[in-house]
Amino acid sequence: MVLRASEALETQPKDVKQRVTNKDTSFMRSLCMGYIEEDMLLPFPAMSAEERETLQGVVGSLGDLLGPREKDFRAWDRAAEMPSAYVDELKAFGLFGLIIPEAYGGLGFGSAAYSRTLQEVAKFDASTAVTVGAHSSIGMRGLLLFGSEEQRTRFLPRLATGEMIAAFCLTEPGSGSDAASIRTTAHREGDDWILDGNKLWITNGGIADFFTVFAKTENADTRGHMTAFIVTRDMPGVSVGPHEDKMGLRASSTTTVHFEKVRVPDSHRLGEVGKGFKVAMKILNSGRTGLGGGAVGTMKHLISLATRQANERSQFGKPIREFGLIKQKIGQMVVDCYASESTVHMVAALADQGYEDYAVEAAISKVFSSEALWRCADEALQTAGGNGYMTEYPYERIVRDARINRIFEGTNEILRLFIALSAMDDVGRHLKELSKSLQGVFEDPIKGFGVLREYALRRASLATGIRKSVFTKLDPRLKSHTAIFEEATKDLAIAVDRVLRKHGRNIIGKQFASKRLAEAMIDLFVLACTLSRVNSSLLANGEEKARQEMQILDVLSDQVRRRVRQNFDLVDRNEDESLKALADHAFELEKYAWDTI
Ligand SMILES: Cc1cc2nc3c(=O)[nH]c(=O)nc-3n(C[C@H](O)[C@H](O)[C@H](O)COP(=O)(O)OP(=O)(O)OC[C@H]3O[C@@H](n4cnc5c(N)ncnc54)[C@H](O)[C@@H]3O)c2cc1C
Repeated sequence: MVLRASEALETQPKDVKQRVTNKDTSFMRSLCMGYIEEDMLLPFPAMSAEERETLQGVVGSLGDLLGPREKDFRAWDRAAEMPSAYVDELKAFGLFGLIIPEAYGGLGFGSAAYSRTLQEVAKFDASTAVTVGAHSSIGMRGLLLFGSEEQRTRFLPRLATGEMIAAFCLTEPGSGSDAASIRTTAHREGDDWILDGNKLWITNGGIADFFTVFAKTENADTRGHMTAFIVTRDMPGVSVGPHEDKMGLRASSTTTVHFEKVRVPDSHRLGEVGKGFKVAMKILNSGRTGLGGGAVGTMKHLISLATRQANERSQFGKPIREFGLIKQKIGQMVVDCYASESTVHMVAALADQGYEDYAVEAAISKVFSSEALWRCADEALQTAGGNGYMTEYPYERIVRDARINRIFEGTNEILRLFIALSAMDDVGRHLKELSKSLQGVFEDPIKGFGVLREYALRRASLATGIRKSVFTKLDPRLKSHTAIFEEATKDLAIAVDRVLRKHGRNIIGKQFASKRLAEAMIDLFVLACTLSRVNSSLLANGEEKARQEMQILDVLSDQVRRRVRQNFDLVDRNEDESLKALADHAFELEKYAWDTI
């Protein structure tokens, strides 16, 4: 990276081409260095005519399949069950074969088409969406990403038809966010592995026949040294617990899964021995647009529900739609939904275009869309007033269903830390080189001078806004929004630089600082994706037709500017120490310490 960055400053036109064709570039890592890799995001990715036509067919048929079922979904939520005859209908529709290549009997969808399909399913029922999503996003994705040809030929056709439903088994009673601490073990015995352990809260556990299981292959105390295996339901020693009684997604199956001396042939191993942690992270990263698609679909449904409600309900002699505070909610829901959709679609398109390093961007799409959905669900319920609280109406179920998105597939706290620390990684390495070079200037003047010169040039480019710290291909009508993005990018690069110099390697323990940087990064990536989409719409449709999209951008860019400013202001002056002290005091007492009597 150090070398590439210095090359960039010397021969920009050639380098722009080189960087763009370089599929290991990450937009956010580059942004933390102060570079805007605009060719990654521009123009806003459009689907091919063929893909669009297929999707329109799928969307229409899904409406026919799921549309008439609203009463069933409500009943199944209350009963906490999903009838097997209904799961058979989902299988017959092909919903379990969405991302499986056509050669193995699936529909061969890329990430964008997959995410768009889950969006459609989620408009009708979140339990159905998570059943289908857990199968494709995480359950069998390891087989697609890491499976041998023999494994793919053996399992993919059955997974495509739904004859086998898949589940992803990582979490354990003692191991949630800290996935490296799992205790399930796999010991080698001849050509086989013997698996022992217990997995918790496994989506599809009760209906799955195919489990992607993570186990320690050294001993249970060795951190991280794990391996991924394909385990099938018919293997002796596999059992599942009862259906969990959950707050939301109640019709979907969530169970414990137990492995007692399960003999698994080595031919069922996914990826290399000891590389299971990487397998798990890669699966979660590449599956994230499924969850994001689901969030967008639910937001679209909520906007339909809440606007209808506000049109129909009158108070003080007029429809509540006429009140400013109701308009404010609906307007914000539209902004949140459009920004989430732009971001989720962009990440899916990056994956489809073969970019390899989109883990930070995928994490951003998950955090932003799950929180946007939470705001939307809460505000839609508020718009419905008391009706929103009644089980007869759909709002309370959607609120219950939506809550989990901030917890599973990586909690939003863990993902924020991941976003900040991963995106800053290149800058950190750069600074390390710099500090080494300062010592090395005297020992190896040429090498030391090279790094110093690059650093000076990078700082100069940040200060003057030249070279790749600016967008050059956005329509001039978006000048003011572009300026907000570029200004905040400079501030981000400077803040990252300052925070890393202050804390060095200790940044890992500085969660308040990391979180603030993550918030700014999330805002900037979401704004960049939205800018790209509005730009494409403006060029294709003209100003008049793109008017509302321009207004969305007006709102989002102003909100981003304010939030980013506030986060950077808080880097140096904040109340963190007092908050930590208050928390420690409460932990000590395990209660609130005051009363008025
Ligand atoms: C309905 C449902 C379905 C699920 N499906 C699956 C599945 O199919 N497969 C599977 O393997 N798992 C599944 N899970 C598990 C899910 O992924 C975990 O719940 C999640 O990873 C969080 O782990 P935890 O619940 O143990 O929380 P913990 O890790 O105990 O975290 C508790 C809190 O502490 C915070 N925290 C933890 N560590 C840190 C840190 N270092 N810094 C700051 N904050 C921290 C967390 O963000 C969280 O707020 C499912 C869970 C649910 C509820």
